[in-house]
Amino acid sequence: MRRIAILGATGSIGTSALDVVARHPDALRATVLAAGTRVEELLALCRIHAPEHAIIGDERLYPILRDGLNEAGLSTQAHAGSDSIASLAASSACNTVIAAIVGAAGLPSTLAAARAGKRLLLANKESLVLAGELLMREVRSLGTEVIPIDSEHNAIFQCLAGGEAKPVRLTLTASGGPFRGRSRAELATVTPAQALAHPKWSMGPKISIDSATLMNKGLEVIEAHHLFHVPSERIRVLVHPQSLVHSMVDFADGSTLAQLGLPDMRTALAVGLAWPRRIASGVPPLDLLAQGGQLEFEPPDLDAFPCLGLATAALVSGGTAPAILNAANEEAVSAFLQGRIGFLDIPDTVAATLNTLPQHAADSLDVLFDADRAARVTARARIEGRPRP
Ligand code: NAD
Ligand code: MG
Repeated sequence: MRRIAILGATGSIGTSALDVVARHPDALRATVLAAGTRVEELLALCRIHAPEHAIIGDERLYPILRDGLNEAGLSTQAHAGSDSIASLAASSACNTVIAAIVGAAGLPSTLAAARAGKRLLLANKESLVLAGELLMREVRSLGTEVIPIDSEHNAIFQCLAGGEAKPVRLTLTASGGPFRGRSRAELATVTPAQALAHPKWSMGPKISIDSATLMNKGLEVIEAHHLFHVPSERIRVLVHPQSLVHSMVDFADGSTLAQLGLPDMRTALAVGLAWPRRIASGVPPLDLLAQGGQLEFEPPDLDAFPCLGLATAALVSGGTAPAILNAANEEAVSAFLQGRIGFLDIPDTVAATLNTLPQHAADSLDVLFDADRAARVTARARIEGRPRP
């Protein structure tokens, strides 16, 4: 029996994961559910899935969770705080952890699960951007099973499976987001509602904005580098508006393998939960003709979407640069969603923060968390100084 902790259970990935789990009651069980602040949604999930443990990140909400579980007559134990999330992720309450908290906030629990040798289904890409070297060092030294839950990286994982061959090049595909084809000047006045309207994927707000700026693809280049041990110059990004080819791997003999499927994260989650077996995910098979019969590819526009270049440059710089990039981006995306800055202020804030702060070798978690904190302070000061849109 796979006993699964779903961290970020109320989110887009979390609810997709619960959908797959519920299809296989004999093999899969959600034993730990954790969320940040949406306590009523967490309670609703507990009523359906009856986990052994439920954790709310925001400690002030603990009484609501505890009383709600009691009133529902559930034996689910209530917990609160990020330390509880990390300790339950490492505990015997689970043998599998779905790391689906958004942002750097997911790093402590991701790391705890990796260190405890759980099968780690890793959606929280920010933890790899912030601390990829440290995290992958732990994973490799302990032999922890990591299955990426990002459609591109899950595709590459599937293309590499079962072979000893090293890839010559990785190609990450990108939908291009809601603003594909627009010039930089045309992006100056776009609104959060327009940026959230992703053409192909239904996702949480932060990754949706990252997809609109192409920062998401930049974070994914860093993620691919750490997961697959491939240098940045051998990771390419191609815009593929149909979002049916999820990524590709080139090998030395001229073969290119790709993984295709409908854009629905339940496929990647089913791969992670059942691998090396295949189980039903609720996603129907791909019918290329019904999807329009066309697969198109084009290069990304780095002028209109500078975040992709900023992220690649941060990967090449190494050290604390990716941590600074990630933290400045989280602050800028949050300010954009609150209507405090414009769309083009996102790359501006990230670039200015990277230019302002010194970069160090990333030799400990403390150094990385210090860089994260300093970047947030610098980015917030820059955001305060911008005119409101
Ligand atoms: P979301 O905003 O829909 O959900 C985030 C979840 O994290 C929620 O359950 C929230 O309660 C929880 N959370 C937030 N802050 C927390 C904290 N401090 N402590 C505990 N819990 C906290 O986001 P999402 O779209 O599901 O994305 C989750 C992660 O997966 C992100 O890192 C994202 O980049 C990655 N990812 C998502 C998709 C997708 O299709 N949604 C695809 C690839 C990768
Ligand atoms: Mg992705």
